[in-house]
Amino acid sequence: MNIRPGKEFLSQPYWRHLAEGTLHLNSCNDCGSSHHPPSPLCPKCHSFNTGWKPASGKGTLNSFSVIRHAVHPSLADKVPYIITLVDLEEGVRLVSGIPAGMDVDLEVGMPLECKVVKIDDEFALPYFVPVEND
Ligand SMILES: [Zn+2]
Repeated sequence: MNIRPGKEFLSQPYWRHLAEGTLHLNSCNDCGSSHHPPSPLCPKCHSFNTGWKPASGKGTLNSFSVIRHAVHPSLADKVPYIITLVDLEEGVRLVSGIPAGMDVDLEVGMPLECKVVKIDDEFALPYFVPVEND
């Protein structure tokens, strides 16, 4: 069993877009800023004219923590796992993680890109992976 987000009206588009394979952010149609968590009111210009737009999926690692203790029985087979704070190009900070089983050396400030991981047909999560240097 996986832990699922609540059925909050404002966040439903966020989860629906992820289930469809893309990361979208709640954004203001007047000033263009993006925000998270979603809000009916733009925190920058106070407009109610908000909607959703695709995110670049690019950001930098702000912080991370390696979780070694399962705080819920459903996470017992998932530890250890990594929780991250990622600063997106759009000026939004997301709580996320590194995909399970991925062996990476993390460094604060390193560039990351979003990888939407499908959990099942109705649910997906935005994980972040280091940007490959070619
Ligand atoms: Zn605005």
